[in-house]
Amino acid sequence: MTHPCLRCGACCATYLVAMYWSEAEALGIDPDLTEKLDPMRVSMRMDPADRGRCIALAGTVGTAAHCRIYPQRPGPCREVEASWEHGRASDQCDRARIRHGLPVLTPADWVPASALAVLAHPAAALTDAPAIAQWSEPVIQGPEGHG
Ligand code: SF4
Ligand code: SF4
Repeated sequence: MTHPCLRCGACCATYLVAMYWSEAEALGIDPDLTEKLDPMRVSMRMDPADRGRCIALAGTVGTAAHCRIYPQRPGPCREVEASWEHGRASDQCDRARIRHGLPVLTPADWVPASALAVLAHPAAALTDAPAIAQWSEPVIQGPEGHG
């Protein structure tokens, strides 16, 4: 399963990311990627060709997108949750995806493809039976198995 964010990037092309200049400095963010917002804060610079898009976003929104400074990304970026990744919807994620014409994520977006195949074809689950029995063997034997 590819992480849904790697096929998205909508939040990075929707919200202005602001932080204290000291945070940007501590994270080592290239000053060319930020601009002064007020005496205390900077924001991630917007792509001059697309004012709603963070300049650090690479790729195409909704197809394949990633943050070019991912290890250094600011705090607000780290706080955006992808809907249902942690068992709950995320308003920021949903609004960004809707703005870019993408469907909101659902719990099904986090189910591995192999599990979906089992759900679609329940008989496939039976073919996994030997592996399950092998895994549970010590439990079945109980104390007698060691006696
Ligand atoms: S909008 Fe949601 S799915 Fe898209 S990149 Fe942001 S958190 Fe991930
Ligand atoms: S810094 Fe990275 S994670 Fe944050 S908005 Fe820009 S592209 Fe997205």
